[in-house]
Amino acid sequence: MSNPLPVGATIGILGGGQLGRMLSVAAARLGLRAHVFEPGAGAPAGHVSEVVTTASYDDAQALTAFAKSVSVVTYEFENIPTAALDVIENIVPIRPGREALRISQDRLTEKTFLQDLGLQVAPFAGVSDRAGLDVALEQAGTPSILKTRRFGYDGKGQSRLMSPSDADTAFREMGGEAAVLEGFVNFTHEVSVIAARSENGDVACFDPGENVHRDGILHTTTVPARLSASQRTDAVLMAAKILNALDYVGVLGVELFVTPGGLIVNEIAPRVHNSGHWTQNGCAVDQFEQHIRAVAGWPLGDGSRYADVVMENLIGDDMHRVPQIAREKDAALHLYGKADIKPGRKMGHVNRIAR
Ligand code: AMP
Repeated sequence: MSNPLPVGATIGILGGGQLGRMLSVAAARLGLRAHVFEPGAGAPAGHVSEVVTTASYDDAQALTAFAKSVSVVTYEFENIPTAALDVIENIVPIRPGREALRISQDRLTEKTFLQDLGLQVAPFAGVSDRAGLDVALEQAGTPSILKTRRFGYDGKGQSRLMSPSDADTAFREMGGEAAVLEGFVNFTHEVSVIAARSENGDVACFDPGENVHRDGILHTTTVPARLSASQRTDAVLMAAKILNALDYVGVLGVELFVTPGGLIVNEIAPRVHNSGHWTQNGCAVDQFEQHIRAVAGWPLGDGSRYADVVMENLIGDDMHRVPQIAREKDAALHLYGKADIKPGRKMGHVNRIAR
């Protein structure tokens, strides 16, 4: 890959959901093109991308043709099958790199990686069978949360244990999947840092946002977050440490619990993140452009925050409020073009600027 990519070059994006869609729009703003690879038909990213390949992640022929048609490949989600990545990587670079994917695809590997970096994480222990859960309970105690090691998102694949007597039910709920038991963190609130690293190692972090979840799904992100100056610095340094350790190129989301004893890392996401959507209307260069700049070998842009913003996710029936939101002052609507409203489905978001 010759860097920086020239205007007119094509970026491959694995995944055609809303994140792929907003990445594609950001690429277009910089004069770049997007080729989206997505198994499902009618994907949100397909509406705004020059080329869409609709094929499965085990279709080596389609993956090969896709990889040959682009200058670099990035992705909107971390659970891409390893075999698909192998096919692509033989042809074209993948950014962020494989190490970030390997680590974030498995909660146990991720927690171990973060702990080895010297960052605070919840007490945790791997669980591979029912007896292992008893051992883990001795280490992590209760209350605690049992989470599948792989494929968890938006609070899915999780079960809470209030006492050791919940062990049987929790174990059953994992459906035989390998899991990790995490001690419950008594946090005051949740924040996240959206951070970017360029090919030459420059790091830029967006201002941390404060996140509120409803039914396990992100409901709002508010900037500025309630953090002291030193907590803010800690959050940014933690994100930079993770980026550098992974020799990362692109945008990464770091979710943190705020506790009186300091910041505890919940999880990392090697991609643009829902809690960074506020940047679209709070910064000159948003998380999507920052990611495209990084993977295209361009310099990072100015992500400093120029407004206070509250981002609200529009989920399922929230779509019925769109006509009213469309009339609001200082509200920027971002809809994903999804045809069917379903409970729990992310349909769009609104960024409200506070003046
Ligand atoms: P996750 O899928 O790991 O991001 O978890 C979803 C949500 O569950 C988090 O945003 C927290 O609100 C809550 N949660 C997850 N892990 C813990 C923990 N160890 N202690 C307390 N709350 C947690």
